[in-house]
Parts: sequence; C-alpha cells; structure tokens
Amino acid sequence: MNSFEIYKILKNHFGEVGSWWPKDGPFEVIIGSILTQQSTWTNVEKALQNLKEANVLTPKDIVSLPLNTLKELIKPSGFFNQKAERIRKVSEYLIEKYNGDLDLLFAKDRKNLRDELLQLKGIGKETADSIILYAAEKNEFVVDAYTKRVYSRLKIVEEEIDYENLKNHIIREIPEELLLYQEFHGLIVLLGKNICKKKNPNCKECPLSSKCKFIK
Ligand code: SF4
Repeated sequence: MNSFEIYKILKNHFGEVGSWWPKDGPFEVIIGSILTQQSTWTNVEKALQNLKEANVLTPKDIVSLPLNTLKELIKPSGFFNQKAERIRKVSEYLIEKYNGDLDLLFAKDRKNLRDELLQLKGIGKETADSIILYAAEKNEFVVDAYTKRVYSRLKIVEEEIDYENLKNHIIREIPEELLLYQEFHGLIVLLGKNICKKKNPNCKECPLSSKCKFIK
C-alpha cells in the first residue's frame, strides 16, 4: 500500500479535513507549532485559547509580556518553562530581523526558509516544517510521531526510521499539492489520536486494518 492509497482511504473514512490546523494568523501557527512539541492538541488548544484571551498573539505582544505571565498562559501545553523561552526567543528574532513582519520571512523560498528556521533554538524539523506548511503555506510535508507509529505498524517502514527518510518516503508517493500535504498530515493526526493510539490501538475501527500487518 502506498501513501496516496493511505491518504484516499483515510479521507474516505474521516471526510474532508482541509487545512485543519487551527489558526487565526501565521504567528499563531508558529506559537502552536512550538506548543505542540511533546504535547497533545487538546492541551495546545487550551494554551492558545489563554493567549487569545490575553490578546497576546503578535511577536511584539509576546516580548512585552513578563516571562512568568507567558509561562502561566501556556502552562496547559506542558514543558512551559522551555516553551516560553523558545516562544520569546523566536518573537525577539522576528522583531529584530523582520520588524515582526512575517510576510518578509515567508517571502523566502522554501529551502532558505527551512534553513533559517532550523537555525533558531528550539525549532526542530517537525516544528520548522509545520511552520512552512501551515503558516507560510508552502509545500513542505510534515511527519510526526503519529506518522511514524502508523507507518511502522503498517510495516511500511522500520520503527527506527529517521525524520527525513520517513518524509522522503511519503513525498515520493503523493502529489506535491499544498492542500493535500496539509490534509494528509491532518488525517494521520486524526488516525493516530483516535484510533491508532500508542497503547491499545482500536484496530477494529481502523480503515486501514485489512492492509495492516500489526499484531492485534
Ligand atoms: S490496524 Fe491497528 S495498528 Fe494498524 S494502522 Fe490501524 S489501528 Fe494502527
């Protein structure tokens, strides 16, 4: 089974998810992509809601905020000390280099944008790719722990596969389209979160079960 077949089966099962990443703007995506590190979406959404209610969703708002207040607001996402530092550093960088104007950053081509993001402390490959795919809206596929779990249980890849190899495996098998990249990632998140869970996967409810070699 190739990745495009998986995409079609998941889309048929879950329906249209479109550009599912919750966002009011590109800076919120950047914050969300940091908050989601080692966290669940439910908890990220609580933290984002706190930031929205406090009306601090621009780089300038973030740097004006006392660090302890920022930590309190993002506490639901876990690892809040580390994440607050990261969000603060990225915000400072965006102000210093782009006067807070994300359009200037996102005007770069995809490769240069990725290289630049990866140089920032606390921005790894998954975070950088999420920012490029959902905030800059460029064709950069994102893989995550859910993707690795599903693909390894389907015995398509080894469990130890690294980020770039998993990503390259998938992008070779799907059309290079922005909405499809966004949607496929969203469908895998839905599957991993609700059905192909870390413990006790619900294989009876899984649309991929007839093709899955995982021992149930
Ligand atoms: S059949 Fe089970 S193990 Fe395989 S992908 Fe579905 S939920 Fe995961």
